[in-house]
Amino acid sequence: MNAPDSSFAAPTEPHVMQTYGRLPIALSHGEGAWVWDTAGRRYLDALSGIAVNTLGHNHPRLVAALRDQVGKLIHTSNYYHVPLQEALAAKLCELSGLTNAFFCNSGLEANEAALKIARKFGHDRGNDNPAVIVFEKAFHGRSIATLSATGNPKVQAGFGPLVPGFVRVPLNDLPAIEQAIQANPNTTAIFLETIQGEGGINPARLEFLQGLRRLCDQHDLLLMLDEVQCGIGRTGKWFAHQWAGIVPDVMPLAKGLGSGVPIGAVVCGPRAAKVMGPGNHGTTFGGNPLAMRAGVETLAVMEADGLLANASQIGAALKTALEQGLAGVPGFLEVRGFGLMIGIQLDRPCGALLGQALDAGLLISVTADSVVRLLPALILTRAEADEIAARLVPLIKAFLATPQP
Ligand SMILES: *Cc1c(COP(=O)(O)O)cnc(C)c1O
Repeated sequence: MNAPDSSFAAPTEPHVMQTYGRLPIALSHGEGAWVWDTAGRRYLDALSGIAVNTLGHNHPRLVAALRDQVGKLIHTSNYYHVPLQEALAAKLCELSGLTNAFFCNSGLEANEAALKIARKFGHDRGNDNPAVIVFEKAFHGRSIATLSATGNPKVQAGFGPLVPGFVRVPLNDLPAIEQAIQANPNTTAIFLETIQGEGGINPARLEFLQGLRRLCDQHDLLLMLDEVQCGIGRTGKWFAHQWAGIVPDVMPLAKGLGSGVPIGAVVCGPRAAKVMGPGNHGTTFGGNPLAMRAGVETLAVMEADGLLANASQIGAALKTALEQGLAGVPGFLEVRGFGLMIGIQLDRPCGALLGQALDAGLLISVTADSVVRLLPALILTRAEADEIAARLVPLIKAFLATPQP
């Protein structure tokens, strides 16, 4: 995440640790793709809490389900069976073709579980020094292991020594991966985001994903696809790798799965699902009834309301509107992405657009310095998509026309 323009950084929270460069508003409530701030101003939400609020704000079915669940049980413990875990795991397996899920609370935790699975997969094969292939510009989280897997020096700076056991390669370069595997016989897994999110909306090419699947089969490696941001219908398929017709061995999920309730999951296929046994991994909060209910209800509403098709159609319309609106504008390079995961690549750092968009009543993000990122709720309507483009295109044009200091 990029810090917004420093003019917005005035701290008003002396007791909150200053880990974010925040915009100068606080939100009070929302409805669908719209939110209101505490001063009563309305914003069109093209970020949905960074791909989290899948069903938008105040969705009637989600709210009713959560109210019901809060009145029954919020948390028990993994000392006991949690039937809603089986319900959500079964649904995720049905949708992905995988076989087993472990539940946690966030994206980095899902990725930590994936990395532990990769290491134990190696150890189980007599490899005491397992290595995982990771990618330039990747983002996998902020724990020590996941920031070590992340390919962004800004995320790592100040937190060394990094966790060893990672080999870094460029995205979409199959020969580089074959070389890395040849060079290190301890390789146990290839770990990447199907579409890099924080790195600037950089999709792994479909043939590249198919090539990775082949290499993993040939060399007995785990293919681990971080779908924390691009999964759960965002691209118009349940999981982004399904565009390539492949199935991974390990798939971390989080952001959109609970439509706002903290949740994470790592979903595994047969080669990885039996790697962890009793005592190998655990979490106090992971898989609690409230989070599981949020996951079950989110997926049920997505199915009932056809939100995959909506993400595809509305996303395509939004992408076209942005491309047409910005075509030929000096400084605009391209629009990338699938469905409602869209990046607008400019030729210069554009963090200042965050505050300008806010003034125009629009919530967006800027990532990788020069990419405007849109991750709206999957309930977005065509009229709202048109409105996002109508507000954003003139802002970007004006920004690119103004010489930057
Ligand atoms: C956001 C993100 C994470 C980290 O998730 P947290 O819930 O913030 O820990 C990991 N991987 C990807 C691809 C992400 O977008």
